[in-house]
Amino acid sequence: PASVVKELLENCLDAGATRVDVELEEAGIRLCRIRDNGAGIVRDELALALARHATSKIESLQDLEQVATLGFRGEALPSIASVSRLTITSRYRDAPAGFSITGADGGPGPVMPAAHPIGTTVEVRDLFFSTPARRRFLRSERTEFTHVRATIEGIALSRAGVALRVLHNQRVVMDLAAAHSPAELFARVGKLCGEEFIRHAIDLERDGPGLTLRGWITQPAHARSQPDLQHVFLNGRAIRDKLLSGAVRAAYRDVLFRDRWPAYVLYLDMDPAW
Ligand code: ADP
Ligand code: MG
Repeated sequence: PASVVKELLENCLDAGATRVDVELEEAGIRLCRIRDNGAGIVRDELALALARHATSKIESLQDLEQVATLGFRGEALPSIASVSRLTITSRYRDAPAGFSITGADGGPGPVMPAAHPIGTTVEVRDLFFSTPARRRFLRSERTEFTHVRATIEGIALSRAGVALRVLHNQRVVMDLAAAHSPAELFARVGKLCGEEFIRHAIDLERDGPGLTLRGWITQPAHARSQPDLQHVFLNGRAIRDKLLSGAVRAAYRDVLFRDRWPAYVLYLDMDPAW
């Protein structure tokens, strides 16, 4: 479920959405519906969106070396559609009306007219209904939801300018306004990482040749007992990298006790070709 949520949210961001609404039932296993106000999909590309290895994000070989989108392999939607009941409803930004398509065994169904504001809704129902073996590997709803939540929080941290609302089993579990001013950013990071973190964090902003690094790092006195608040985003994509985490740890070495861990939210931006 967390992987499904991650892929669908990344698609919203790639489509330029500024507002995303997530609706989940049973940690996303029964239902995961994600609506965005992004660019939408033109009618004739709805079936392509469900085709394997079809992406709208790479048009030339050169694009491949300058990938600025989160997705570019065209694998997520067909993979999800093969283990669920998936419906895409979308209205392209220049189109007067919307359309929808449902994935099915042996290829997608017909494209049908459907009411939708500009943007896209992807609905995934009954994850793994056709693959009971995989369904048995799912953890409890609670555990799966913990993973889903962590995934959404990471994405929410990566794009502060996107409003995000999450319903789980009909209850609002996250409601984040888009943050543009420093005060809004402070509030949003506080909601995601805890007031304690943001209130005692050091604001960081550094430029290097072709690089910028910004974000927040904890003051040594407010280090944590676990390495559980360490986020690094490279060009807006959450990454885990031993070299980077090792560098931060080394930087803190002289000011932290052995069993304490720095907390940080860091955004590293560089030319995608690098
Ligand atoms: P990828 O993101 O790697 O291109 P996906 O399987 O995730 O592959 O999506 C396939 C295609 O469907 C995308 O390239 C895009 O054109 C379209 N698409 C999927 N989700 C959205 C969305 N929320 N808004 C607009 N287009 C979308
Ligand atoms: Mg994708």
